Amino acid sequence: NIDNQKYLINVYRIEGKKIIHIQDITPFEVYKQAKKDFVSNVSHELKTPISVLKSAVETIEEEKDPVMIKKFVNIAKKRIEQMDHLINDLLILARLESQEDQVKKERYDLHKQIEEIFEDLKHLTEEKEIQLINQVPNKFDVYADEQKLSIALKNLIENAIKYNKQNGKVIVKAVKDSKYTTITVEDTGIGIPEESIPLIFERFYRVDKSRSRNIGGTGLGLSIVKHITEAHKGKVWVESKLGEGSKFFIKIPNT
Ligand code: ADP
Repeated sequence: NIDNQKYLINVYRIEGKKIIHIQDITPFEVYKQAKKDFVSNVSHELKTPISVLKSAVETIEEEKDPVMIKKFVNIAKKRIEQMDHLINDLLILARLESQEDQVKKERYDLHKQIEEIFEDLKHLTEEKEIQLINQVPNKFDVYADEQKLSIALKNLIENAIKYNKQNGKVIVKAVKDSKYTTITVEDTGIGIPEESIPLIFERFYRVDKSRSRNIGGTGLGLSIVKHITEAHKGKVWVESKLGEGSKFFIKIPNT
């Protein structure tokens, strides 16, 4: 650690020669610092849709052509939805962080829960003709907070649809051993660059900001997933290949 800079130093010995590999990992630290500035992030996230909304309303006020009016009404609606989504995600995070909101675990059927989530998200699959495949065995018992796990899985499945390709697939599976249940959400989408993988679970981090906003992302989804999984004393991680797809894992204890 030198001032605010951070370096990862590896020393290898190959055929008697010493190789020192120095990697600058400062951006991660810089990002961590930025994360602390939560209020500033939220303000920024709201500023863009509000300014677009403002000019859309001003245009509607002066416009006479009904086609143009409809166009600007749609622009306004999209931005209202974006803000609504952001506020909802912020409320979920705030509730998760408050002490009163404890995890209430019960046994229930995960297969059925996935079917319900697929039904809720079906409308998102139409444009790119994404196939949703539930490979969780019928009557697969899971021990979790049904509402919270539903939020986490919905976020993962929604991402798997949003960041997918034309005619892509989303496959959900679950396996159980004596101690843990592991649920996976796999997609055939755009994948995640290796250097972004350690950052995607952080609040407001996005691989591609404009793309994510355009498709309705808040940058909070995966931090909510992480929060919920850790509240279950579990772990979440991802394996991904750029251009080929991603596989998210949620592993939680059976008791
Ligand atoms: P967002 O609301 O932007 O989707 P998330 O916290 O859910 O925010 O995800 C953070 C970022 O991780 C996304 O902006 C996207 O770049 C990347 N990401 C998440 N899930 C996937 C996925 N299944 N495939 C490719 N990229 C993904």
